[in-house]
Amino acid sequence: AGLPRRIHEITTGHVVNAPDRIALIEDGAAWSCRDLDGRVAEITVVLSSLGVRAGDRMMIVSENCIALAALLLAASRLDAWAIVANPRLSARELDQIRDHSGARRMFFTSGVSKEAAAHASRYGAENRQIGALREIGVGPLNESATVEPVEADPAKQVAVLIYTSGTTGTPKGVMLSHENLLISAKTTALFRKMDRDDKIYLVLPISHIVGISLLIMTLMVGGTVRMVNKYDPAATAKAIAEEDITILNGVPATYQRLLEYKSVSGPKRLDRGSLRLISVAGAPVDLNLKLRVEKEFGLPLLNGYGITECSPGISGVRFDAPRSDQAVGTLLPGVEGRIRTIDGIPLSKGEVGELHVRGRNVMRGYYRAPELTAKVIDSEGWFNTGDLARFDGDCLYVVGRTKEMIIRSGFNVYPAEVEAVLSSHKDVVQCAVVGRPADGNEEIVAFVQLLPGSRATPTDLMGFIRFQLTSYKRPSEIIVLDALPATSTGKILKHKLAESLREGDEAPPAQTA
Ligand code: ATP
Repeated sequence: AGLPRRIHEITTGHVVNAPDRIALIEDGAAWSCRDLDGRVAEITVVLSSLGVRAGDRMMIVSENCIALAALLLAASRLDAWAIVANPRLSARELDQIRDHSGARRMFFTSGVSKEAAAHASRYGAENRQIGALREIGVGPLNESATVEPVEADPAKQVAVLIYTSGTTGTPKGVMLSHENLLISAKTTALFRKMDRDDKIYLVLPISHIVGISLLIMTLMVGGTVRMVNKYDPAATAKAIAEEDITILNGVPATYQRLLEYKSVSGPKRLDRGSLRLISVAGAPVDLNLKLRVEKEFGLPLLNGYGITECSPGISGVRFDAPRSDQAVGTLLPGVEGRIRTIDGIPLSKGEVGELHVRGRNVMRGYYRAPELTAKVIDSEGWFNTGDLARFDGDCLYVVGRTKEMIIRSGFNVYPAEVEAVLSSHKDVVQCAVVGRPADGNEEIVAFVQLLPGSRATPTDLMGFIRFQLTSYKRPSEIIVLDALPATSTGKILKHKLAESLREGDEAPPAQTA
């Protein structure tokens, strides 16, 4: 079958062939394919009566739940752009997104967190019934909101606007079309051999590109999405043991916390139930963590690499070709890749340089930021990922991000390499390596979080890495912190750590060397 044109069309075939199959589950509710299709149609009518129209930005503040999925698909039916915002964002961050996007209306699902309820009341939202959805907070109409032109080709219409988490600075609104999302979801599902018997435990937030892509790919193959509104390792272990879950996807922090839970309070061994596939994406995966997870589940941990701007699929490890190293797999079908120096000079595929990609998964652009878009996408459609990578044959390795590369005494240092060595210390839970400007040069500083109760000191850690890293790659300082600042998906906010070195505004470090 060809690609549907818009994201709500992914359920169409299943409604005909398997109307009673369960598409969405949350605590206390389950919707079949038929329910989903019919209810989304009703919800669309109500949204339209609330003033949502084609080319609008419709903002949904929500944790993962059935209502969120239904609102997303209804927005697609109306040709409105959906913005899914995580309720864990601060009021300032939500205001930023609302103002930048010029959203006409904000919607709030009843959610689980205190944060979600507080946001709804702060924006003066009123509870409404929207078709099958009860208690949706509906914010006031922004009368001055403009509408964006509707594309002649519905596949090119923007389906979602995703504000990136900003691990490297200011948030950007990434415009992803229906085609962008559908092609990435389809090729990734293919790599994972997903089908209608799959039931996925959706713990990654739908507000994040990886979460929304998983939602789309599972509905697309006719599988079941088990909505998880808050990540809790104990509940995850229980659900895997008892609920016929076949697929678990996470960011590295998802697995890190699952193992921590097990070692502290969990069973001797996690019961893998019906799990057939575990995968990880969104951030560099430490080899140590990968090996521990694989041993625990008795399954290979499949790595996938992407970026919001690519919807997100760039590469992945195939289900039938697992890897024992940190490779991020082969390029997804239809994605082209090339390696360039920072100045754009071609490099051979084996050399480390910036990865540029091209394909139908590359975003329409950054919203209201044409200059920024022109900086990353050239006239031939090549998108510069800003990641440093190399190919070994067909296999891709990500070695770091250009923005994070440290130049010390003229040598390039990739933080990921230093982090990999530090993380291999048995007491290191996670670490982050950043540069600190020093007299026209850059010094290397490592931030480390240790296992609770560990007695390792920065001096011990220095000793540990001494024989594994050549001198210019070794940190001049190692700082131990109780926790490292991270995004809602567990990605370490390195710019905050780097800023703390410049301004000294971070809590005073526990110990340093
Ligand atoms: P911003 O673009 O504002 O910094 P962000 O970092 O959260 O925000 P995302 O699109 O969520 O943006 O993250 C994409 C980046 O994550 C990639 O460019 C890459 O550096 C990293 N990444 C994603 N998956 C992997 C992976 N499997 N291995 C290594 N790095 C990865």
